[in-house]
Amino acid sequence: MSKKAVVAIAKDPSVEVMVKQVFDELGGADTIIRKGSTVVLKPNAGHLGKDGTSVNTSPALVGEVIKAVKAAGARKVIVAESAAIGCDTIACLEDSGISDAARNAGVDEIRDIKSDKELIKVPIRDARSAITSVMLPRFLVEADHIINMPIFKSHASMVFTCALKNIKGVVQDKVHYDMHRTNLAMAMMDIWSVVRADLNIADLIWPAEGFGPHSPVPLDFGCVLASRDPVALDIVACHCVGLDTGKVSYFENARERGLGCADIDELEVRGKSIDEVYQKMWLPYLDGFDTWPEYEILPENSCSSCQSLVAFTMEKLKALDEYEKNSDAVIVLGAKKEVPDIEKERLILCGNCLRKHRDKGVAVNGCPPAEPHVAWAIIDRKDHMEIGPDLRDRMHSEEAPWNEYINALVAKKREERADGE
Ligand code: SF4
Repeated sequence: MSKKAVVAIAKDPSVEVMVKQVFDELGGADTIIRKGSTVVLKPNAGHLGKDGTSVNTSPALVGEVIKAVKAAGARKVIVAESAAIGCDTIACLEDSGISDAARNAGVDEIRDIKSDKELIKVPIRDARSAITSVMLPRFLVEADHIINMPIFKSHASMVFTCALKNIKGVVQDKVHYDMHRTNLAMAMMDIWSVVRADLNIADLIWPAEGFGPHSPVPLDFGCVLASRDPVALDIVACHCVGLDTGKVSYFENARERGLGCADIDELEVRGKSIDEVYQKMWLPYLDGFDTWPEYEILPENSCSSCQSLVAFTMEKLKALDEYEKNSDAVIVLGAKKEVPDIEKERLILCGNCLRKHRDKGVAVNGCPPAEPHVAWAIIDRKDHMEIGPDLRDRMHSEEAPWNEYINALVAKKREERADGE
């Protein structure tokens, strides 16, 4: 057996066939799943979104994995999720079609991690973020196997989301909040250090491109990827879609934490090759700040998380008709010894690593800050520490202009693609 991390790639019109192929490439489901075991499947069902919208993991994929795991001898299969803050997990699972697909495939339980009362405090040794322990549901801690089932999507504050980020959804809202106040990428890795999935099966059947995750643009990609190693899986997924992994700084965090193989030359791809399935996705977050020449943006020493967030913010300002009005703002991200000496309300200090300069400008808290906060800081010239009830209304009111803007952009993008074919 190879000592290298193995990533299996399947491409086929049938989800059933793809699930069988990736299990076979990894040595067979019965070599991964112990007979009589309890298996927890963790899909991405963080938001309301029907099958076909690419908001959540494909229900067909979840159903086929349940069948494969049961056929391999699992005694009990649980589908579990903790939806995004402010979202109802069970409603998300129902709306996505995952609950129905899971029931049809013979799932034993569907559980909302958020409302679970039987929690165990699990210490995180050698934590690199401020999360030094985490409360996890007993059923998850005691499960024999965890199968992580993300969908690949572009993501405003993490560049993209796939295996590494999906495991963030095993925590309840309180930890979720705390993760956003500390270094989110490191907190993700810290959670991984105590919740190791035995297997990761990623949905690249209809992954989402564009300015995700809230405005996903589904792309017909037709693949399933699987690996025991979440870092290797994410690296291979990025290569399949043309995302430069050298620009995604949290792979370095994963490497530091010893979570897996982040080097494409050190892992083994089985099944289809990357070249056979390659299809460049529209992942615009790291295209470079000269895309917005009207603004002075100072990104030296910043992480890809803040870079993608600022890129998202620029487009959001356009959608809200605030882009030209605010181009006097100077946006700073990444740790710096010095920041420009200009009027306080023009200087937007994005992220916790600029905290020491907070008296010199508008400081936007968070590491990275919450998605709407940078745009609001630029428009209002003041920070909003939390997203309280009044700000939730503001978020909702911004959805319609954003959707209208992004739909026009998607239509243009598709036209350009069609012209190029
Ligand atoms: S606040 Fe600083 S450390 Fe945190 S993600 Fe942004 S650039 Fe990185």
